[in-house]
Amino acid sequence: MSIQPTVQIGNKIIRASAQSVENVSDSDIQQTIEDLIDSMRHDNLVGMAAPQIGKSWRIFVTEIRQTTYRKNIAQSDSVRVFINPVITWQSEKQQDGYEGCGSVASAQLFGMVNRPDSLVCKALDKDGNHFEIKADGFLARIISHEMDHLNGIVFVDQMSNMSTLRNRQTYIDSQKK
Ligand SMILES: [Zn+2]
Repeated sequence: MSIQPTVQIGNKIIRASAQSVENVSDSDIQQTIEDLIDSMRHDNLVGMAAPQIGKSWRIFVTEIRQTTYRKNIAQSDSVRVFINPVITWQSEKQQDGYEGCGSVASAQLFGMVNRPDSLVCKALDKDGNHFEIKADGFLARIISHEMDHLNGIVFVDQMSNMSTLRNRQTYIDSQKK
């Protein structure tokens, strides 16, 4: 188990386009996957991309569960590993939702982002097997957010209304209603 410090915006790795993985079984790749899962859980995140722990690979992980920031999770989803992911379809229908990010002020800021309601993503799993997933709702949002990280984009870039930006505590309090 290895919890890595989360790289913050301002560091150029967060703005870089990450490299495709050629050999999934490579020890650095396997270590990156383990570190991503450990770090995501430690930091109360529901997804984390390799550039966020300083590895510029096209890898991200997701896990939907209740966290300190997300108290009202209707949907849960066990850990998933995406290597060289490609979004092959996304719905025209979109949905607003609040997002934060471990790399944006250490998840101290949340803001409203419009994302596809559902999407299809193709990727390799941690053993190098191809898979395809159709994701809806919150999982689609997370995949879209993490996919952005592999292209140097963070959620604040996707916000259309900056006045929805709020700090962590205000966001947590707003979920209690
Ligand atoms: Zn993020």
